[in-house]
Amino acid sequence: MLSTPLFEKRQLDVSILRLDKIHPLISGNKWFKLRFHIDEAKKQGKKKILTFGGAWSNHILATAAACKLYNLFAIGIIRGEKAAALSPTLIQAKELGMQLVFTSREEYKKKMIPNELNDEDCYIVNEGGFGARGTEGASSILAHCKKNEYNHICCAVGTGTMMAGLIISAVPGTKVTGISVLKNNTELQDQVTTLLPAKMENYEIIHEYHFGGYAKHKPELLAFMNSFYRQTSVPTDFVYTGKLCFAVNDLAEKNFFPPESRILVIHSGGLQGNQSLNKGTLIF
Ligand SMILES: *Cc1c(COP(=O)(O)O)cnc(C)c1O
Repeated sequence: MLSTPLFEKRQLDVSILRLDKIHPLISGNKWFKLRFHIDEAKKQGKKKILTFGGAWSNHILATAAACKLYNLFAIGIIRGEKAAALSPTLIQAKELGMQLVFTSREEYKKKMIPNELNDEDCYIVNEGGFGARGTEGASSILAHCKKNEYNHICCAVGTGTMMAGLIISAVPGTKVTGISVLKNNTELQDQVTTLLPAKMENYEIIHEYHFGGYAKHKPELLAFMNSFYRQTSVPTDFVYTGKLCFAVNDLAEKNFFPPESRILVIHSGGLQGNQSLNKGTLIF
């Protein structure tokens, strides 16, 4: 239970599902999005998993850690030329055995895979784990809580894969509200729709809380993350869950949730990304 003066005033019962705590490296929703890819790669007798991400990618680190755990070789195609100093995320991925392959931003956009890497041993996972298998995995997230106790589920949205899994597995009557962390991501609605088995009405995507765009932030967001931590002892990341919790708080303020709503907030992990902020910015 997250108890804050605002939630109490609005008579909201808010809980948070701490997926950030499931594993120190395979954090949050990334494990759920990867689990069936790992199964499938093993089933197909593949030896390597290749995927894509940026220098601070939670997905890259989670893939590196999961591959080590399941004895698969990991290859990360990394957006942008190699920097003089690797990010802590990439250092860790490398230490876990991942082969890092740096590509120009243009090549990265096309998701080009160097020929010498793309052989029959190679199983490819989309950037961010987007797709049907990731959705299937995300559908198992709600097995980790008493899902029929909530009538609202709120989550951060990047590719929409996790959100699709939550929409599919939510009990009828529960509304899923996704907070997009990208600016003007007009493709998101279609992306989520393609991941759903049928037309579904139990969800809404809100685009007003991106704080300038993907991985962008503003002093107001960082100040909120500190104050949210003081009030609830829950650490958040500035790329996803900080924006999510800011949004939930702001939506509560604006009476988006009717009184007596029972809200489940999905803490989808990602805390490692805070290492890209200047030291001392956050109090946790
Ligand atoms: C990747 C990620 C998301 C977004 O998940 P999608 O399935 O791509 O929408 C949300 N929160 C965190 C912490 C993430 O790392």
